[in-house]
Amino acid sequence: MSRPRVVILGAGYAGLKTAKELSKKNVEADIVLVNKNDYHYESTQLHEVAAGTEPASKITFNIVDVIDTKKVEFIKDTVIKVEKDDKKVLLENNGELSYDYLVMALGFESETFGIPGVDEFSLPLVNIKTAEAAQAHLDKMLSNYQQSKNELDLSIVVCGAGFTSIEYLGEITNRIPKLAKTMNFPMDKVKITCIEAMPTLLPMFSEKLGQFGIDVLKKRGVTFKVGTPIKEIKENTVVYEENGELKEVHAHTIIWTTGVKGSHVVGESGFAERRGRVMVEKDLRVEGYSDIFMIGDVSAVMDEESGRPFPTTAQIAIKQGEAAANNLARLLNNQPTEAFTFKSLGTVASIGNNVGMGQILGGKEVKGYMGSIVKKSIINKSLLDVGTAGTLLKKGRFDYYH
Ligand code: FAD
Repeated sequence: MSRPRVVILGAGYAGLKTAKELSKKNVEADIVLVNKNDYHYESTQLHEVAAGTEPASKITFNIVDVIDTKKVEFIKDTVIKVEKDDKKVLLENNGELSYDYLVMALGFESETFGIPGVDEFSLPLVNIKTAEAAQAHLDKMLSNYQQSKNELDLSIVVCGAGFTSIEYLGEITNRIPKLAKTMNFPMDKVKITCIEAMPTLLPMFSEKLGQFGIDVLKKRGVTFKVGTPIKEIKENTVVYEENGELKEVHAHTIIWTTGVKGSHVVGESGFAERRGRVMVEKDLRVEGYSDIFMIGDVSAVMDEESGRPFPTTAQIAIKQGEAAANNLARLLNNQPTEAFTFKSLGTVASIGNNVGMGQILGGKEVKGYMGSIVKKSIINKSLLDVGTAGTLLKKGRFDYYH
């Protein structure tokens, strides 16, 4: 009798953790991991690549270097669709792949909220390609100024003021003053605007902590527009609403970081989803499909305590990967599955390289340099979860001072 086949789609935090954990368990199964690239990237650090403070090589590593290739077959390919009633996956280059158990972990994409012009005229930060494109564009515009003397070359608009936007602003406000010296542009002509629809900034933190972060960025020259929903992006222009009036801000660099949704493959495969996310059962399987686990940013998991789904984070994606591997092993060994549980270790944002802020276990708040150290420790722990101790060493992650 042939062994059951477990297919894992996506080698982000959730999928890679599932593959690594399942390969360590005592199971009689063939494990196949599919990912569109042959590398894993730390999506939590994309803002650094986009701002140009770190190269892509610092936040990427080869998937086959961290999995047990005797137990996990890796296929580099793009998933087109899951045909769940026929138990098969359609791949762009390798045709059909059948499964007995499936783990969907295809992660996030940029959310445009249907706002016109976003895809055409702004730059998202969702993977290595888009982050590198944003960095190349920003550098090109800033260096153009010397010849053009067009102030729009030095104008940057960041759309949205969520976690990603704040972390990106932290990085560019660290780097641009250094570029001003090498590219020879005047810092007093640099204009950085951040536009947010919601009436409050950083609502995930206490008011005092949120204000700390905003003050750091304001001191570095960022102007915030709050309670001002973006209505349209045109070429070099962001149109937003303020006090019932449409207004415009002009810039040659427009960064789109208003939020994310789950992979489009989820909807195209006919799952009951909302913004690319499927509400999963307690053991992380999809209702009506006892052979399919949905984890990471394509899933929504109810937090019994708050009565609302958990936010989608790398922290939860890693824990879901662990839980999915555990439940797969139980199913393969004819045991009942277990309910997923999650306790957040806290939420910490970086504001450039040496400043951070957030709340850690027990509700304790950290900020400033200590916040930065805590943030780097959390990111290193995630890297250790999906990579190896060798990955951490190779990436030079023990430098907390620069
Ligand atoms: P992903 O990390 O998105 O991985 C999905 C994988 O699937 C990728 O390898 C992708 O290439 C692959 N893939 C996608 N589509 C296909 C396809 N069709 N075929 C084949 N392969 C495919 N979370 C935190 O906990 N802490 C933070 O500090 C934090 N900071 C963040 C900062 C930024 C700038 C961003 C953008 C996100 C941040 N997050 C943070 C959120 C976190 O990155 C996500 O929640 C996390 O990446 C989700 O993990 P995942 O495995 O579900 O998906």
